[in-house]
Amino acid sequence: MCSVSGVRAWVELDFTALKENVKYLQHKLPNHCKLMPAVKANAYGHGAVLITRELNRLGIMDFCVATVSEGIELRKAGIRGQILVLGYTHPEEIPALEAYKLTQSVVDVSYGEVLNACGNRLNVHVLIDSGMHRLGERAEHVDKIASLFEMSHLNITGIYSHLCVSDGNSEREVEYTKEQKNHFQKLIETLQQRGIDVPKTHLLASYGVLNYPEYGGDYARVGIAMYGILSTKHDYEGSKLPLQPVLSIKSRIASIRRLHVGESAGYGMAYVAQQERVIATITIGYADGIPRELSDEKGSVLIGGREAPIVGRVCMDQTLIDITEIEGVRQGDEVVVIGKSGEKEITVYDLAEQTGTITNEILSRLGGRLERRATF
Ligand SMILES: *Cc1c(COP(=O)(O)O)cnc(C)c1O
Repeated sequence: MCSVSGVRAWVELDFTALKENVKYLQHKLPNHCKLMPAVKANAYGHGAVLITRELNRLGIMDFCVATVSEGIELRKAGIRGQILVLGYTHPEEIPALEAYKLTQSVVDVSYGEVLNACGNRLNVHVLIDSGMHRLGERAEHVDKIASLFEMSHLNITGIYSHLCVSDGNSEREVEYTKEQKNHFQKLIETLQQRGIDVPKTHLLASYGVLNYPEYGGDYARVGIAMYGILSTKHDYEGSKLPLQPVLSIKSRIASIRRLHVGESAGYGMAYVAQQERVIATITIGYADGIPRELSDEKGSVLIGGREAPIVGRVCMDQTLIDITEIEGVRQGDEVVVIGKSGEKEITVYDLAEQTGTITNEILSRLGGRLERRATF
């Protein structure tokens, strides 16, 4: 019997990198500001339970998720501390908020009324729209916001807002961010002047922590940067930050064959051998989150420190690569899809560039079928 994990395609988590990133981000922030990591979307594909459990072990006790079901998954795995649901929760799911001791965002005042009417006392954070215009009650609606603090079934433990251009450094973007911060701050001051006991405040996500750490209130909702990545290679190269990627992805050689001149491989006969080629099939595909846009030599993988281009069309569960130039490859060998192999490295930035997106999307779309394992 074989019962090793990581037999097909898997994510390796570098917990030393995670710890260093946490330390660095914490150090950037004012002393009173604690990290409240964003572990939504399966912790940006890393594996929410493994990541959050490790963060608990590092002493972190506040987290944010996007949905109730993400919060439930963490509670079922024994995660302790505060778990804030950032998104809208349908009234049908309100009992689950209570049962699993989750904290709900009040996405506007009318939603606050819905939560208040549900009967039981709920832990909530009030979400303020300071200029992103996505979720939150408009900061200028002071009376309406103040009315939330009189609702007997809302236990308001936090109030927060979200910045929409904290990653930009143009004059306009910096000015807009400052305005968002001012709207939020002014609201807090007005509530205080009205005698309201203002709860914990938070405003910053990753780029906020990096570019405006002084705006940190009681928490910073760090996501992408904690995983050791910024959204684009350009941002990362410009920043020179000591962040270390936490995630690598590996798979295996499933089968190797020789193609003769003129033979095709894969769906749509998209790849045709112009000379004798050696083609290998690897055990990972787009259902695992490998973008189909990497087809036709846009992407590549690493085997034993050598680069092998992806050929033909990426399939749901498998991908074809050209290993003609690489000697000694055998069935079952390890293939690096993201990460280091010898002197070479393929980064999430490379995949994001090759597919015209940001790293956040590549990571958050990694499939549930990938196994996740930790290394130290
Ligand atoms: C996703 C999210 C975050 C984390 O964002 P990063 O840029 O990944 O740090 C923080 N706050 C809110 C409201 C979010 O939706």
